Amino acid sequence: MKITQIKLYQVDLPLKEGRYSWSGGKSVDVFDSTVVCVTTDSGLEGWGEVCPLGPAYLPAFAEGCRTGMEYLAPHLIGEHPLRLDPLNRHMDGVLKGHPSVKSAIDMACWDLLGKHTGMPVCDLLGGRYGEDFHLYRAISQNTPEAMAENVAAYREEGYRRFQLKVGGDPDVDIQRIREVAGVLKPGDRLVADANTGWTQEGAMRVVHGVSELDVYIEQPCLSYQECLAIRRHCNHPFVLDEVVDGVDMLIQGKKDLAMDVVNIKISKFGGLTRARLARDLCVQMGVAMTIEDSWGGDIITSAIAHLAHSTPTAFLFSSTDFNSYVTQPIAHGAPQRECGRLRASSEPGLGITPMMETLGEPVWTT
Ligand code: MG
Repeated sequence: MKITQIKLYQVDLPLKEGRYSWSGGKSVDVFDSTVVCVTTDSGLEGWGEVCPLGPAYLPAFAEGCRTGMEYLAPHLIGEHPLRLDPLNRHMDGVLKGHPSVKSAIDMACWDLLGKHTGMPVCDLLGGRYGEDFHLYRAISQNTPEAMAENVAAYREEGYRRFQLKVGGDPDVDIQRIREVAGVLKPGDRLVADANTGWTQEGAMRVVHGVSELDVYIEQPCLSYQECLAIRRHCNHPFVLDEVVDGVDMLIQGKKDLAMDVVNIKISKFGGLTRARLARDLCVQMGVAMTIEDSWGGDIITSAIAHLAHSTPTAFLFSSTDFNSYVTQPIAHGAPQRECGRLRASSEPGLGITPMMETLGEPVWTT
């Protein structure tokens, strides 16, 4: 099988809540997502998607992803899309770094592998565990009262894991955590995600201010060393996210006992091939995970579900259903949340069929 053409589509994904806000006053109203179609000489097509959380979250942005793919794609014509490791090495040889540029192409090739073999990607990634898995709900930054109301409403919908967007004024963040903790029930999980927004001094104040509460602390500060300092001075379960950008960081974090949970975002690792490697390493090291991406619509949600559902349940802290946050569906067959839980499709590949009337014409073609 050979890659014969690569097409890029651009789609806007407005948010149901209108806006998503996190640390440092950053926010997104409409996500700019890129859908990729990899066409082959077999007649099969594979689909992938990449959607950065705006331009100021990770070193990735939507226009940059498309520009990168426009550079990379001509080098992939004639390559075998099902030989995923050689393909990824080839992409790294053509373009150094830029994992978000490679993610959707790699995802589309996993879709092709599943369609070619008649197997869901979940089974190709190692095999399904259980019937379904836990989702978290990200709670956009707002007043303590509004965040508590939001958590109570999503709890009614079945969610049991909540990720509060803090990383603002430490005194207000202490109130946010306290207010939300008050509406939770035994068995629920609360994560305070600062998204690198606290100084080390501010983070220290927060963890001491909520020391008696059952709350996870996620990525309090910008650097790994600052996070490690906080980790060593608090008794809360600890999550690393933004600083985890590859297997070297995972190994360093394990050596330092720097975290209990890490967030594996597919595009930050460069696609499902490398995210699977990170996932399997974490399982071997005994580190729990949230399996997710930076954001996305139906195609990314489907890919997340396949990776999450093939992760041993004991190590899957949570995952996410980004397609339920946005108003615009882009594919049929994507997984839909039931009672705060999700399951991967049992259909071949990612199990999705893009809505061509929504995607429109490609914005770029090889
Ligand atoms: Mg996070």
